[in-house]
Amino acid sequence: MSRSPGDPRPSFVRWAQSRWLLHQALALIILYLLAVSDLPPAAPTPPPTPVPLITEAAAPAEADWTVSARAAMVRDTIEARGVTDPDVLRVMRTVPRHAFVLEDYLDQAYADHPLPIGYGQTISQPYIVALMTELLELKPGDKVLEIGTGSGYQAAVLAELGNVEVYSIEIIPELAEQAARRLAALGYDKVHLRQGDGYFGWPEHAPYDAIIVTAAPDHLPAPLSEQLAEGGRLVIPIGPPGGYQTLWKFVKQNGEMKAYSQGGVLFVPLTGGPSAR
Ligand code: SAM
Repeated sequence: MSRSPGDPRPSFVRWAQSRWLLHQALALIILYLLAVSDLPPAAPTPPPTPVPLITEAAAPAEADWTVSARAAMVRDTIEARGVTDPDVLRVMRTVPRHAFVLEDYLDQAYADHPLPIGYGQTISQPYIVALMTELLELKPGDKVLEIGTGSGYQAAVLAELGNVEVYSIEIIPELAEQAARRLAALGYDKVHLRQGDGYFGWPEHAPYDAIIVTAAPDHLPAPLSEQLAEGGRLVIPIGPPGGYQTLWKFVKQNGEMKAYSQGGVLFVPLTGGPSAR
């Protein structure tokens, strides 16, 4: 080891001291650079977001019983009887049937039977609504005509399918008016409604890809067959007044109405028609 003349320290001590001085100088430079830097100060770590607890008070109380009642209705009374179309099952789970029944029957809104809606008329049994909707075999873009708006429930079911244009006629003015208000309030405002005698159809918007008749005549009204498009489906109960009827599905093929029986049903009679004119 060498030593400069006049320095009494051993050379390794001088080497160690100079390294220490170098480190000190470097540390001072780094501290200075950090102090003048443009970098924003690191953001403080936010406190963890509290996970909300789902309580009964926070849950949508109105929806609870109707959602589960609809699910049970579809499972036990509609799927169980053989309706399989997933779109039909979806809309039956969606449309709030309780909004279409009279207040006195609210607790029976999802029961397996028809209910009175006033003026001697009824809202049909949920299974029959689902079955008739399935029989219509609606496709996106189809135009469907309903005869017998009643409460507006079947019209809402058709509208809820989406991408289907719905026309509906009711003969009783008060029911027609109530259904119009109810459907608008529930957001089914694209349904075209008319008060009048549906025996004669709605020729201005014909032809229809599908026609559903929810009151029973004793024969197939000719104007309805005429207003059905080629390949169209017409679902209708036909039978003598005051008795059971047969539910028919007609398909128009090469201008001919091919009839397919769907079994026995019980509907209120179709009023109006040529004899009422
Ligand atoms: N589809 C209705 C619903 O979802 O509430 C139920 C229909 S109810 C079983 C039968 C309806 O057909 C009654 O509202 C009745 O006034 C109506 N109706 C009877 N004859 C009619 C006709 N010639 N034209 C239009 N509607 C008629």
